[in-house]
Amino acid sequence: MTELIKVVVTGAAGRMGREVVKMVLQDEQMQLAAAVGPSSGPVDAGTLVGLEPCGVLVTPDLETALSNAKADVLVDFTVPHAAYGNTTAAIMHGVRPVIGTTGITPEQIEELDKLCQSRGIGGLIAPNFSIGAILMMKFAAQASKYLPHVEIIEYHGDQKLDAPSGTSVKTAELISEVREELRQGNPQEKETIEGSRGGYYNGFRIHSVRLPGVFAQQEVIFGGFGQTLKIRHDSYDRAGYMPGVSVAVKKVMTYTGLIYGFEHLMD
Ligand code: NAP
Repeated sequence: MTELIKVVVTGAAGRMGREVVKMVLQDEQMQLAAAVGPSSGPVDAGTLVGLEPCGVLVTPDLETALSNAKADVLVDFTVPHAAYGNTTAAIMHGVRPVIGTTGITPEQIEELDKLCQSRGIGGLIAPNFSIGAILMMKFAAQASKYLPHVEIIEYHGDQKLDAPSGTSVKTAELISEVREELRQGNPQEKETIEGSRGGYYNGFRIHSVRLPGVFAQQEVIFGGFGQTLKIRHDSYDRAGYMPGVSVAVKKVMTYTGLIYGFEHLMD
């Protein structure tokens, strides 16, 4: 029998974290090694997510959890300022990070890659684990080769901490790899209200909408002579990210170094 993959979940009491705990408890190839939530009382992780008690209490302290759990993988859906520290701590314990938290900077990603390499373990930072969203990003990058005039509009709930979203930044990076050098719009353009043209990235714009009632959506709009093309993805439920997280936990066991973007694990 193959050994179970022992998983630590940070942000276990959060909206994404609870879905991860549920997924791990229901996956035959995984075992919940620890669940960390800084503000949670000593509640059973299974009970917390509406399943049978599983014997793992949600604990506030990651260091103790990492020392005791002998885990293989850490899955983190927390907040940007905590995720970097959680990831570093995991790597120092030889635990492979699978990071869904958005807002981690390129410099931090580089540092974490070096740390993973030096410990000889794999890691993943993925701004989006949804297969439909990955396809949206890939199709947008393909289209930008032929229609280089592009703008991105992303929509999220009003309590989201980072803007623009990790998915829109990743989309912009993929577009920039293939799109011809081009600064769009009228060079004489002036904003009469600051920020009205959105965030500037490599010659094009990203717009962040934040409203209650919205979950996660993105449109990539291309303009050409007498035509526009819109590529749009809508997420409706956090459970939709879990097939991707499950694949990531299994694949991160098989390589060395930090990969940025779930699309690299999909082929
Ligand atoms: P959430 O419900 O607010 O949960 C955040 C969790 O982080 C909470 O459980 C909170 O714990 C914990 N936390 C806060 N500060 C912490 C710290 N210093 N150390 C450890 N844990 C800490 O947020 P969410 O909706 O689950 O989203 C979490 C992250 O996932 C965000 O960055 C979001 O953008 C990202 N996300 C990514 C994807 C993807 O596919 N990659 C999809 C959706 C969301 P307490 O409540 O105990 O304080």
